[in-house]
Amino acid sequence: LFIDQPLSEGAEVTLDSGQANYLLNVMRLKAGDAVRCFDDRSGEWGAELSSAGKRDARLRMVRHLAPREPVPDLWLVAAPIKRQRIDWMAEKACELGVDRFMPVLTRRSVVDKLNLERLRAHMIEAAEQCGRTALPGLDEPVKLDRLLRDWPEDRTLYFADETGGERFAPAPGPAAILIGPEGGFDPAERAAIRALPQARGVSLGPRILRAETAALAAAAVWMSMAGD
Ligand code: SAM
Repeated sequence: LFIDQPLSEGAEVTLDSGQANYLLNVMRLKAGDAVRCFDDRSGEWGAELSSAGKRDARLRMVRHLAPREPVPDLWLVAAPIKRQRIDWMAEKACELGVDRFMPVLTRRSVVDKLNLERLRAHMIEAAEQCGRTALPGLDEPVKLDRLLRDWPEDRTLYFADETGGERFAPAPGPAAILIGPEGGFDPAERAAIRALPQARGVSLGPRILRAETAALAAAAVWMSMAGD
């Protein structure tokens, strides 16, 4: 269970109604039962349900189980796509261990404002389901030209390019995967991306994948080949 406050030995936290409902009515836990928590800061804690009222519940941190997991240094930079699909993309990025999710606004993006709260909620749920103790960072959407202008010196930008690129065989090191919108990048954007010294145009095979499929495939390949 994700607790959005710093946890420490003996700390008592009062759960919000959604969490209380989940523990008491979905999981049907009783006072004294054990719950594993994480705060995306100090790692994982063994807690006990110290009080379980009709609608409220409190947890007490009993034992520190593990430090916050080390997170492979991979960012997913993706143009916003339709609501369910970007929710799915954010959930898969979290499950696969991505460190940061950076929405990037491109000329053909059909979506230009994102509900970051909703995306973060999907990533928290994914982390709770898959057992991550570190949440991916989630940035405000940024325009592509600004992203390229401020791109970090030491980070490889693997540009998933369905019009052709080298076989995707990433080496270890700080990395990002760039995925375009449903309509792809336009030629000027493609040229600007390729002009970045840290950019590598990579192919994910001969078919046109949906953006969310490309994001998942590229992140999975990176994790298995370059994730430390
Ligand atoms: N331009 C595409 C078309 O002709 O329909 C639409 C873009 S595709 C639906 C969305 C994004 O997924 C692309 O911008 C690219 O980043 C990525 N992508 C899709 N297929 C890919 C492939 N075979 N290799 C690399 N990237 C791919």
